[in-house]
Formats: sequence, C-alpha cells, structure tokens
Amino acid sequence: MDATILNYNVSDGVSNFLSKNKQLYIDGKWVDSKSGKTFEVEDPATGKQIATCAAGDSNDIDLAVKAARKAFDSGKWTSIPTNERGKIIWKIGDLIDKHAEELAQLESLDNGKPVTIAGAADVPLSSDIMRYMAGWATKIEGETIPISVPYTPGAQYHSYTLREPVGVVGQIIPWNFPLLMMAWKLAPALAAGCTIVLKPAEQTPLSALRLTEIINDSGLLPEGVLNVVTGLGEAAGAPLAAHPEVDKVAFTGSTEVGKLITQASAGNLKKVSLELGGKSPTIIFPDADVDAAIAGAASAIFFNHGQCCCAGSRLFAHEKIFEKVTEGISKIAEGIKVGPGMDTSTEMGPLVSDEQFQKVSGYIESGKQEGGEIVAGGKYDNASGGHFVHPTVFSKTNADMTLVKEEIFGPVVCAQPFSDENLEKIASEANNTNFGLAASIWTKNISVAHKLAAKIRSGTVWINCHNIFDASLPFGGYKESGWGREMGHEVLKNYTELKAITVNL
Ligand code: ADP
Repeated sequence: MDATILNYNVSDGVSNFLSKNKQLYIDGKWVDSKSGKTFEVEDPATGKQIATCAAGDSNDIDLAVKAARKAFDSGKWTSIPTNERGKIIWKIGDLIDKHAEELAQLESLDNGKPVTIAGAADVPLSSDIMRYMAGWATKIEGETIPISVPYTPGAQYHSYTLREPVGVVGQIIPWNFPLLMMAWKLAPALAAGCTIVLKPAEQTPLSALRLTEIINDSGLLPEGVLNVVTGLGEAAGAPLAAHPEVDKVAFTGSTEVGKLITQASAGNLKKVSLELGGKSPTIIFPDADVDAAIAGAASAIFFNHGQCCCAGSRLFAHEKIFEKVTEGISKIAEGIKVGPGMDTSTEMGPLVSDEQFQKVSGYIESGKQEGGEIVAGGKYDNASGGHFVHPTVFSKTNADMTLVKEEIFGPVVCAQPFSDENLEKIASEANNTNFGLAASIWTKNISVAHKLAAKIRSGTVWINCHNIFDASLPFGGYKESGWGREMGHEVLKNYTELKAITVNL
C-alpha cells in the first residue's frame, strides 16, 4: 500500500495503472480510438472520476475484428499445439494470482464491491477458471461413428467428427463481476482455439484493461488473438454483435440487451450465447435448518449488493416459519455494514452507477406504492455522491407486483409465505416468471428436494445452499435467462463447430 487514490490506500500497481492513458488493445498494440473520443470512469462510492478510457466505436471494432480474423485465419493460435495452448492459459491464471491484490483493488474501486470480497471471490475464481480451461485445451475431441447408409448396400465407410474452433468471437461483458466475466469468456475461447474481441462494460473497464496489460507484458499470446475495445454499449457493443466477420458472439448482461444482440447477430447468422437476467426463487420448507436457511437466503440476495443475475430475489417461506425467516433475514440486513468498497470493514458497497441507484430506489418506491411492506432497509442515499442502497426486505408481496415480476438487480428481496406443501403448486409459483436462471430449495427431506428440483425450470438448482459456483459446473438459463451455458466443459460447445467427415473405404 504505497499510494493514495481519492483517500484510499492502494498498491503501486493500481496507482501506476490509473495514472496511465487507457487505450484500446488491437492487434497487440495500445491505440487511441479512431474518433479520439473518451469516456469517464467513476468511483461508485463517491461519484468522483478515477479514469478516462478510449471510447471505441464501429471503426475501432472493425480494426479489432480484422486483427482477430487475421490471427485466426493465419493459424497463429490454432497451430500452437494444444498442450502448449493449455500451458499459456494456465500461466494467465498464475498471472492473475500474482497480481491478485491490485486486481482486487481495481475491481473494488471501479465496481464498488468490497475489496475483501473481490480478493476472496472474484480474483481467485478468475484464475481458477483459467486453470480449469487450460486442462480442456488438450481434451476437445471428436468421435468415431459407425454408420449404416442403407441406400449404399455393401459400401463401407469410416466416419468421425472433428470439434473445431468457431473462429472469431465477440465477447460483451457486464459490470457486476468485471474480471470474472472476462475470465469466464476468455478461458474457454482460448482453450477452443478462437481469437477474441472483448468489449468490457463502460461502467467497469479497468480490471479488463489491467489484465490485458498484464497478458500483453507477458508476451504469452500472439498478436491479434486477444483484442479489447472499451466503449459504450450502442457504440461499441452493437457493431461487434453485428459485424459480418465475427463468427460468434457471447454476451452476459440484461435480457433486454440480449434480445438486441440476437437481432444484431442475424445479418450473418453468427452463433450466439447469452447469459441474461433472473428472478430466482429461494424456497424454504418448515423442516429446513431454519438458521442455515436464513443465512443462506440473506446471502442469496445481498451478496454483491444483489447485483447477481442469480440473486435469490423472490423468497418463498412456509407460513409456519415465515415470520422467523423474515425477521432473521431482516436482522442480517440491518447488521450489514454499508460503505465504500475500499474500506476493508465494508460488507456492502455502493451500487455501480447512478443509473442503477435510480432504478433500484425506484423499485423500492414502487414496491411501497403497490402495497409491499418494508421490514428492513428501504433506505437509499446518494448525498455523498455515492450510490448507496441499504439491504431491503419486503414482505406482503405477491406475484402481480412489479417488484416481484421484474429483475431489480439490487439488494431487495420480496418475501411471500406459502401454506400448501404440494410440490406442483410450489413449482408453479417458483416458475411463475419469464426468467429461469437459478433457484434454491431449503429442506431436510431429500425426496422433496430432488422432486422439486426436477420441477423447477431453471439452469441451476441449489439444495441447502445458494450461489455455489465452480469452474466445472455449467451455468446458464432456461426461458428468458439465456441460451447456452457458461463454464464446465459444456461451454466449449459455444466456442466450437462440429464437422462430420466420412471416408469411403
Ligand atoms: P445493464 O443494463 O445491467 O447495464 P447491459 O445489458 O446494458 O447491462 O450491459 C451489458 C453489456 O452490454 C455492457 O458491456 C454494455 O456496454 C453492452 N451493451 C449495452 N447495449 C448494447 C447493445 N445495444 N449492443 C451490444 N452491447 C450492448
């Protein structure tokens, strides 16, 4: 800790990085945007500017895509033996760990999340997925397939499949886990042999730029394999999604923008994977370990300030324990220390931006107007320039309320009791949403847990836990929560094409 930024103690690495011009990274070089335009990046705890970044647009995207295209078509990356490719990806994981402290600080400064959480979760999960995917580089395989071909009697064939890299991929990522979302995207794309144009979120571009600088300084990747274009969504994200020389776009963000991405991608029918919003139910049965369920349900909604696509934002607790559960969660909510993420005693930082602050505080007001009762929190405060919303528990909510229907993406949980233990009914309530990302079930009855898990229409179901992620577990959504899966070996399907080859013997 040798330097000071906005009165925070930061490492030398962070202060050096912040003092530099933030450019685009295209074809292995740092360059200004063609237009010369920039945008400002703020500290969400104070609203003060901490950096200025190049604002890329369609011209810069075009250059970046051409660089990625050249790198892919020339075989610069695909011709590297897969064991060597795996070692490179592993080394990127090591570099993330080596720079853990400064990456955690940058993440906290830029996103507002507690620096302790960024250090304990975001950074190690980012290096972990690099290592997990490093192992997959040597295991992306085809199959041999016995074929019959009834219309060529007597002929003999040898058929096999090849799993090949899909090509140039555009990756558009959000602001809630900036470094981790970059790692979730880069690691499998690199393992599969793709080349990349990454567009970080305009609210939080810093950790992506710093990791790119670290990778560039290491010389691990050939020029053009990774390109990073910062900029606004419509100016830089949209042309990337629409670009005719991009073979695939991978997007994480809002369902609304996900729909725009699919439209933009239609021109060349590029492959699309989407990890979108959610409105995940947390369902607590009367036989559950209620204390564990209370702690789990609180963390399900308050972790990362509720800015998680899988946040447990709809709480269903059986009427026998409903009061105990809402009181318990409220007590936890009231005990959470809200403050600047860079303060190591902070447990919940500010929301990422004024836009989010307005959106989430607007939902709190609309919840009150629609008859919801606030049992904890409900306070929001931007007097200091920061975007602070206190953890909030609403009871007396129902499925017709906007608060319950729409994704809030803030620390606001809507609690509703249920009386009937009929699993069909519970599942139907839990599934009464356009989303289908995640759910958690809290009970000691394993039969109930597994039966209900099967009935829930979501990509993830946690039993007696919530927010358990691993590089090896596929994550993604049913319904309007997305297409395809992130992580696990399943994600490699997003980044590969399957070719069937048949030889007439
Ligand atoms: P949020 O609403 O939570 O800010 P978004 O879905 O708007 O999340 O943003 C996620 C990512 O999508 C960001 O990198 C953002 O710049 C980008 N983005 C926003 N609008 C578009 C668009 N029209 N086309 C492509 N990308 C976009």
